[in-house]
Amino acid sequence: MSTRPQLTTEQVEDAMAALHTRLYDTLNQKGWGSFASKHEALGAIVEEMRELEEAVRVRPALGGNSKVRHELLDLAIAAVFAVACLDAKTMDW
Ligand SMILES: [Mg+2]
Repeated sequence: MSTRPQLTTEQVEDAMAALHTRLYDTLNQKGWGSFASKHEALGAIVEEMRELEEAVRVRPALGGNSKVRHELLDLAIAAVFAVACLDAKTMDW
């Protein structure tokens, strides 16, 4: 058994709620147009990964944790939207 601190269901659900809110805020801001391709989806995900890497290097006292949280949600949004596009068969290649 892991000795890591264990999260509660409520804590995980709070994170999912934050993702849900940010996902729809982002779609309503940027539009609901599908990624054109798996390559475009990958590009968006890689870009968010790079932003996350930068945010991880920012010290917490300088707002690093807030930036990490922001970029983690961006990354999750890109991945979830890519899944929606894939399932909807809206990507050409
Ligand atoms: Mg970002």
